[in-house]
Amino acid sequence: MSLSVVQVDYKLSRSLIREVMDRSGQNLLACYQCRRCAAGCPVGDETGVTPDRLIRTIIFGDREKALSNLLVWKCVACYTCGSRCPNNIQTARINEALKEMGKEDHVEPLLPAVAAFHDNFMRSASHFGRINEIEFMGLYELQNTKREIKKGGGWKVVAGALKSSARLAVSMMKKKRLHFRLNRIRNLSEIKRLFRKAGNGPGG
Ligand code: SF4
Ligand code: SF4
Repeated sequence: MSLSVVQVDYKLSRSLIREVMDRSGQNLLACYQCRRCAAGCPVGDETGVTPDRLIRTIIFGDREKALSNLLVWKCVACYTCGSRCPNNIQTARINEALKEMGKEDHVEPLLPAVAAFHDNFMRSASHFGRINEIEFMGLYELQNTKREIKKGGGWKVVAGALKSSARLAVSMMKKKRLHFRLNRIRNLSEIKRLFRKAGNGPGG
């Protein structure tokens, strides 16, 4: 039987753990790898990364893997992991923190369309205090179109994507899920203050 030795750079590991804990509000050090979270994660199998593994990656100080893995981008924020965790660790919040950290470190997102969704959702929320579907869809499509053109996808690909979004918009309108009114929340200044305080939000 051969044993594999894991090399850990404790200095790197300490600073990564501290940063993720501060930004996510989750106590990673409480994790004792019981894997109860892993059993319930609906995307663990397809991403090849379960919440316990993600936490272990952070504990070992592997910043590159922590910021660039499919769980961060495919997490559906169902909070099953957190509800099963005996230590109440919410991996969905860790994933949100890692998304923002990756963006600041200019790490190419593994799923750019999901990254565009996330960025523009936050941008729209920072403008109105809640998402405005029309603004959000416009920003989201613009970002995806720009990316497709940049990578040489051609107008056919762009037109196909726009057509499918238009179909989605029509079906959402029929179900009254797409609103043209620009509803603002009452205390919008509070939300703007929170975005400013977070410092890493799109601000907008
Ligand atoms: S359930 Fe909680 S303590 Fe157990 S491995 Fe998952 S995060 Fe760690
Ligand atoms: S919140 Fe994300 S990481 Fe947790 S179980 Fe759901 S999909 Fe998996």
